[in-house]
Amino acid sequence: MIYGASNFEQPIRWGMVGGGLGSQIGYIHRSAALRDFNFNLVAGAFDIDAERGRDFGLRLHVAPERCYKDYKEMFAAEAAREDGIQAVSIATPNFTHFEIAKAALEAGLHVVCEKPLCFTTEEAKELERTAAAQKKIVGVTYGYAGHQLIDQARRMIANGELGAVRIVNMQFAHGFHNVAVEANTPSTKWRVDPKYAGPSYVLGDIGTHPLYLAEVMLPDLKVKRLMCSRQSFVKSRAPLEDNAYTLMEYDTGAVAMVWSCAVNCGSMHGQKIRVIGEKASLEWWDEQPNQLRFEVQGEPVRILERGMGYLHPEALAEDRIGGGHPEGLFEAWSNLYNRFALAMTAADEGQGVDFWYPDIHAGLEGVRWVENCVRSADQGAVWVDYK
Ligand code: NAD
Repeated sequence: MIYGASNFEQPIRWGMVGGGLGSQIGYIHRSAALRDFNFNLVAGAFDIDAERGRDFGLRLHVAPERCYKDYKEMFAAEAAREDGIQAVSIATPNFTHFEIAKAALEAGLHVVCEKPLCFTTEEAKELERTAAAQKKIVGVTYGYAGHQLIDQARRMIANGELGAVRIVNMQFAHGFHNVAVEANTPSTKWRVDPKYAGPSYVLGDIGTHPLYLAEVMLPDLKVKRLMCSRQSFVKSRAPLEDNAYTLMEYDTGAVAMVWSCAVNCGSMHGQKIRVIGEKASLEWWDEQPNQLRFEVQGEPVRILERGMGYLHPEALAEDRIGGGHPEGLFEAWSNLYNRFALAMTAADEGQGVDFWYPDIHAGLEGVRWVENCVRSADQGAVWVDYK
């Protein structure tokens, strides 16, 4: 159970790049990082518009001299302070992640970076090397992965409760971009422009989320090959896709499908994962995150409820309010930030950790998957060996 008591004598001194006023994801980073008193927000370059960023920083009670015009100024000035930041979160559009994350690691900071971590596996590997050389951790915010029932599913699968896994069905398929909303929405506009979003739209923006849920639940499965078909139903988005189907084969013989979609009219979010074994299935849906469906062939369906004593102890460790009350996105993110804080502190003490979290490897795998999907789709939806 988490009661909000900090894990540390002093909170980690923390800064943000991006996530300014009006941004989609800045507030959730702050809510998650600040909730358990493991981080203290002391600096920021919150906005591409320096003045707006400074005004916003002041409203977050960041000292005026620590509201910076950009990340370069922030990393240099903070490095010169005895009480400078120790970690930074990057919540800017995709095309800036690599450059900012690299600069942060080189400045000796732990990093929490938004997905996609960068555009190419080469870049991801470079970040991995830099993080290793600097002995710093990189966390990637696949937020819902921090929900307790994801860990519960991982443990049930490892215990053999499904039998050998045969099929994994994943989707993140919402309907909010069924028309060209980007014409009037700045945070969608950059998402459909390859210069800012990278080689994909929905594959990288949302498909990587359930993909990571599968990596958590099924850590031993390795993709062998895949085939991806992608479309731009709103034509102006081409070459970036607003819908994609990806079929995958794992090295165990199991198969998977990922549906990534922003034009699924009427769907609010539609992030789901269903893992099918030889004797039972598990299903989780982010719109009903407190229930995990456990379906044993030939028996009535069982709905496992978050926070209940019959769950694995590890899945109960991050319970914050007990069963019955809903916990969702905010709590899942807080759990991840909690783990990021523990991993950062362990790294500073020269130690590793014995729990999973979306780390640099998870970031790299997301980038690798998108690269393979695009390679397949752009050859006309052909099977490609996973590279
Ligand atoms: P947004 O366009 O709504 O906001 C971007 C913010 O970054 C703005 O405040 C902008 O002023 C600021 N900014 C841009 N360039 C900057 C720079 N060079 N320096 C400082 N600030 C800068 O974007 P968003 O929807 O919040 O997305 C940001 C990132 O978060 C993207 O990579 C996106 O993929 C990711 N995201 C992740 C999730 C998730 O569930 N993990 C959800 C939404 C968005």
